[in-house]
Amino acid sequence: MVHPSDKASAPRVGIVSLGCPKALVDSERIITKLRAEGYDIAPTYENADVVLVNTCGFLDSAKAESLDAIGEAMAENGRVIVTGCLGVEEDRIRAQYPNVLAVTGPHQYEAVIEEIHKAAPPLHDPFLDLVPPEGLRLTPRHYAYLKISEGCNNRCSFCIIPRLRGRLASRPAAHVLTEAEHLAAAGVKELLVISQDTSAYGLDLKYAASEWRGAPVSARFQDLVQALGTLGVWVRLHYVYPYPHVDQVMALMAEGLVLPYLDIPFQHASPSILKAMRRPAHQEKTLDRIRSWRSQVPDLAIRSTFIVGFPGETEEDFQILLDWLEEARLNRAGCFIYENVGGAQANDLPDHIAEDVKADRYRRFMEKQQEISAELLSEKVGKKINVIIDEVDEEGAIGRSEWDAPEIDGNVFLNGETDVQPGDIVTVNIEHADEYDLWGQRADG
Ligand code: SF4
Repeated sequence: MVHPSDKASAPRVGIVSLGCPKALVDSERIITKLRAEGYDIAPTYENADVVLVNTCGFLDSAKAESLDAIGEAMAENGRVIVTGCLGVEEDRIRAQYPNVLAVTGPHQYEAVIEEIHKAAPPLHDPFLDLVPPEGLRLTPRHYAYLKISEGCNNRCSFCIIPRLRGRLASRPAAHVLTEAEHLAAAGVKELLVISQDTSAYGLDLKYAASEWRGAPVSARFQDLVQALGTLGVWVRLHYVYPYPHVDQVMALMAEGLVLPYLDIPFQHASPSILKAMRRPAHQEKTLDRIRSWRSQVPDLAIRSTFIVGFPGETEEDFQILLDWLEEARLNRAGCFIYENVGGAQANDLPDHIAEDVKADRYRRFMEKQQEISAELLSEKVGKKINVIIDEVDEEGAIGRSEWDAPEIDGNVFLNGETDVQPGDIVTVNIEHADEYDLWGQRADG
């Protein structure tokens, strides 16, 4: 007789996860739940009883990519459930793929699980306990995304995320901290704090305290960050807006409790464009704030993203952005060329910019930022810095500095260094830099 928990009889779910780290966290939650119920995760389409496609619906290009992924899963397997941001456009999905088994929207974990139960019923085994307390993750073992809230109360004119994901819903501090603690205990060396608006954390909970390690911790950005700083792992803050209370985490960075790193999506610098974008904190004097932060934390790295070619952006607005970049000297800056997002208010703004003008501004932005980034990285040559190792092969190791987040920032290459493991934090003597990456040798080997 085959025991119900026998691996050979466990139903298998294939997962395709598209989009941003937030979507990845959603996929991890779904996988965690499925594994807890005894499902296997199938690495290939043909081995799966059903395939779940977690889609992204932010930009039109991401929607097209999501539709292609659904098409591939339909062709290769044929039993497909769609979830994620594109799930709010069920008609569009069904127009192209009428035979998908079910479509659910973002964060509808329960609905997704229910559909999977229908498509591939779970095994029943009350003794199943397959999931470690930290959950199952899609990121490498040594770093993990830590989502502190869902949704967003802002209404940026180019963005439909609040419509897709709803209003800000923060997790109680104790939930976040317990998850972080489990992750650290499981060997995670770096926590990447994410949300749509990290500095707004707790506003919806009226900063209510919850109990962690026998003491109350309020759901307040600076208190949460302080508590995370006691876990003895790298803590990196993403999607922070430059509100005044962010100043308070500088002291934590100066003490070394939190990485000297802030990911702030500025998007532009011209006041009129920021206003048209309806950006949060658009009236803040950001250059003054950056100067004051750097006086407290001299090695603070700031990374950001920008949009060029927003409707109504004049050459003067764009020049304000270039001048601002010159002054702000951000360590990393990504740039997107504006494109309409179905359902966003910005689509109806007057004076959309011609594609060749947008492309030219993108090129000028990137040239300017590469110059700044190369200068800042060249200042690291000759210094000893801490590096977390991400990958090792026979040719050497690849890691990241405290100023670099995985996937989006640069790397530190340690050619010939094979005596390290992913997750090790080593001291490196920096010998060479270009506009994105650093090269060096271990100083503590
Ligand atoms: S802050 Fe703006 S861009 Fe970010 S999710 Fe909220 S509305 Fe969208």
